[in-house]
Amino acid sequence: MQSVSGTSSVYSNPYIQRKNNNKSSNMISFASQKQDSSEKVSNKKLIGWAVGIGALLLTVGAAVVTRGRAIQKQKLLAQIPNDLQVRFESLKNLKGKDFVDKAYAEMVDYMGLKGIAPEKIIKDGTDGIMSVQGGYSMIDNTISYTPGFFEKLDRVKQLNLLSHELTHCRQYTNMLRTEGITVEKYVESIVDSMIKNSIKSPLDNPGFTNQYKNAVKKGTEKEFLARVKESWSKDLTAKVQESYKDVLKMPKIKADSPEGKKAYEYLKANSEYETLDAFGFGSDAYKNNPLETEAYAFGDKIEAYFNKFCEAYKIID
Ligand SMILES: [Zn+2]
Repeated sequence: MQSVSGTSSVYSNPYIQRKNNNKSSNMISFASQKQDSSEKVSNKKLIGWAVGIGALLLTVGAAVVTRGRAIQKQKLLAQIPNDLQVRFESLKNLKGKDFVDKAYAEMVDYMGLKGIAPEKIIKDGTDGIMSVQGGYSMIDNTISYTPGFFEKLDRVKQLNLLSHELTHCRQYTNMLRTEGITVEKYVESIVDSMIKNSIKSPLDNPGFTNQYKNAVKKGTEKEFLARVKESWSKDLTAKVQESYKDVLKMPKIKADSPEGKKAYEYLKANSEYETLDAFGFGSDAYKNNPLETEAYAFGDKIEAYFNKFCEAYKIID
């Protein structure tokens, strides 16, 4: 925009200068007595005219640029589904905790998780050495983030991670809502994964690790694992029944519907789930787990839409 007005003033000045010279020389020859005052008047007029042209060119230049920007803005907004765009509008002027709370509420509603997802998110744990972490508890039905989520991330990334954990919430609540997936089967898939992870990462659960090592030495590994499974399952079943009591009362999803079939895939994926390591890094098994690929894909999709929205409105964090 600046270069346009700069260019216009460079072009108009020599022209005005030339006209000015012609006029003043005419005046001089016609009435020399009034030379001074008439020259002043004509100069004033010319200056006024020059300003007028300059302002006019400037306006034209500015109008062209604004129109270009408006087209660009419309192009960006047109790529965002309307129901998301309306929600983004309501987030436009919010920052910090206000943004996080409102963004969470909007995504809960957008994803059809009202009355299903936790009412609030929780700040919990510590950041990884090089990462900020979030998590959905499939036992407590809670969503939590380490402090860095609130302090280190920009809004685009925050929205991505809110969408990511809410995807997990939908996956697990859909499992519990699907015909044939009882709380017991749901819990069994969790316990299977917990045992696998406890064996794989001995430092995560030292109590388990010590007893497991002893059992392996004595050759009673199978019996030990069966006992652990029974005890953990009993404990978790009670917890799941309490945390998801409203979800369990909801209408069931048919087992042979697309959603129901997906829920059975989630259940299998959950029993094979590998957790992040202590540094916040995920193995290939973690990244390739269908529960994660879906959550990452959805989070990234929402982030891409919100990025376009921020670009359209020149929102910068
Ligand atoms: Zn995840």
